[in-house]
Amino acid sequence: MTELPAWAQGFELELKFDERLAPHTTIDIGGDARWFAEPATAEGTAKLLLALSTAGVGWKVLGGGSNLVAPDGGVRDEVVIHPSKLNEFRIKDTRVTLGAGFALQRAVALTTGEGLAGLQGLGGIPAQIGGAVAMNAGGRHGWISDVLESVVVAMPDGKLHTILASDLKMGYREAHLPKGAVIVSATFDLAAGNAAELKKTAGEITKDKSKKQPTREKNFGCTWKNPDGQSGVSAGKLAEDAGCKGLAVGKARITATHGNFIDNDGGATAEDVRQLIARAEAMIFAEHGIELEREVVIWPEPRLSMSSRGG
Ligand SMILES: Cc1cc2nc3c(=O)[nH]c(=O)nc-3n(C[C@H](O)[C@H](O)[C@H](O)COP(=O)(O)OP(=O)(O)OC[C@H]3O[C@@H](n4cnc5c(N)ncnc54)[C@H](O)[C@@H]3O)c2cc1C
Repeated sequence: MTELPAWAQGFELELKFDERLAPHTTIDIGGDARWFAEPATAEGTAKLLLALSTAGVGWKVLGGGSNLVAPDGGVRDEVVIHPSKLNEFRIKDTRVTLGAGFALQRAVALTTGEGLAGLQGLGGIPAQIGGAVAMNAGGRHGWISDVLESVVVAMPDGKLHTILASDLKMGYREAHLPKGAVIVSATFDLAAGNAAELKKTAGEITKDKSKKQPTREKNFGCTWKNPDGQSGVSAGKLAEDAGCKGLAVGKARITATHGNFIDNDGGATAEDVRQLIARAEAMIFAEHGIELEREVVIWPEPRLSMSSRGG
């Protein structure tokens, strides 16, 4: 039986050992997390961070895994924190508080169904609430930052802190969280609206997205940020014009539908994806002289330490 590490003793924590990361990501890539923690409460998350920082053990946060490539070698020396059990949902007038693990699409369905406007433009975007805030999910129909009022984060000091959205300085696919912070919930300031109309809008945006993007295949959404945000030429078009569509390494392939999407054709590795991205970036630079900035989060492969060799 696997022994409970010292840092996990003395408080309640759901901790899995050698949990495969691939099924927790939309591209279905990634080896095992040596420690996979699913705290049940915000306070439990803060306690976990204090225990880890005291023990000198690092952590990474995995939300919906929809813009993330997990390493082939897994995560061996750090703890993967998965806030999927932080699932609260509270409505007070037009103010809605959601746990970090709450699925964004469930939030879109629930709020529009309640006649609350603000999240309908995020129809079709896969995410947990925490990941959607960390990446400022959105696009031409609106951004999560448009309606975010505040977040509660667990911090390495073992405390919960409330941060106003204005202090997160959210931009194109970014939010400035303090180092080590784990979002445990988010509060949105929505507006009263017509439920039927809002649901229709969210449905139409979702449908339109599935026509333009390979939303049913295994991928992680966009690989690169558009160079000028939502204005100007898109990263997908730059990749397409550089001849990247259809380019493949191993089982990872840039889709024919969208030059910014990489599909896992079955059995792709993180190494396939890394090499494919590097090859495409070289082609894009050669064609346009533009160095695209990556949107996808790629976790590094583990260092070969004593623990990862089982020593
Ligand atoms: C088919 C498809 C279409 C997509 N379309 C869009 C789109 O239109 N617009 C868009 O913005 N994105 C899109 N994406 C990308 C993705 O949906 C977003 O980036 C989303 O916000 C990621 O959320 P997640 O919960 O899956 O985060 P993950 O992918 O799990 O993590 C992303 C980053 O957020 C951090 N993070 C996650 N949870 C927390 C937390 N609780 N506290 C602190 N940090 C955290 C992670 O550590 C990581 O750095 C698409 C993806 C797919 C697969």
